[in-house]
Amino acid sequence: MKKVGILGGTFDPPHYGHLLIAEEVYQALKLDEVWFIPSYEPPHKEKATSTVEKRLAMLEVAIDNNEHFSINKIEVNRSVKSYTINTIYQLNEQHPDMEFYFIIGADMVEYLPHWYRIDELMQLVKFVGVKRPDYTLKTNYPIIEVEVPALEISSTEIRQRLQQGKSIRYLVPDGVLAVIKENQLYG
Ligand code: ATP
Ligand code: MG
Repeated sequence: MKKVGILGGTFDPPHYGHLLIAEEVYQALKLDEVWFIPSYEPPHKEKATSTVEKRLAMLEVAIDNNEHFSINKIEVNRSVKSYTINTIYQLNEQHPDMEFYFIIGADMVEYLPHWYRIDELMQLVKFVGVKRPDYTLKTNYPIIEVEVPALEISSTEIRQRLQQGKSIRYLVPDGVLAVIKENQLYG
């Protein structure tokens, strides 16, 4: 069985926190690859502020220089509200030769009780939790914990910094910064 990590997110924009946790889990669990799965419209928060096309463009440059990272467009292609459980059912069906590891930050670990059909989802995929400043990994759900260096970076803060005219250099890869500037994203 091929071991594949999955990192779902809005990636609005993608930042070094995303890349770091993907790489750390890849190494720790000896995965064969990691797939980044951008959401079309996240069920649990307000609509993303950048279009799917722009988020994809940023994600492409962000993962470009890592040969075991790729983008899977299963959710954006569906073009409807995406629930993780549907994505996992579809991935398991499409790839019977693969074992999936769903990587989530501690904020998402805390949110697990509210995930749509969570008990069923727990039977379908292994969850990997990584720490994130201000959140806890304590949970009753059976997750695999992977130790990662804590990076206090969020897309929300990056969007705020851009609105305030602050630099986001060294929080995101240079290529992501270039796409943001070219398209004048986030004000
Ligand atoms: P936003 O502030 O818009 O919610 P975000 O920074 O949380 O953006 P998402 O796209 O929502 O990024 O996150 C995708 C996944 O990556 C989630 O599981 C989230 O917990 C995890 N993640 C994002 N940033 C970090 C970080 N700095 N440390 C650990 N996990 C992170
Ligand atoms: Mg988030």
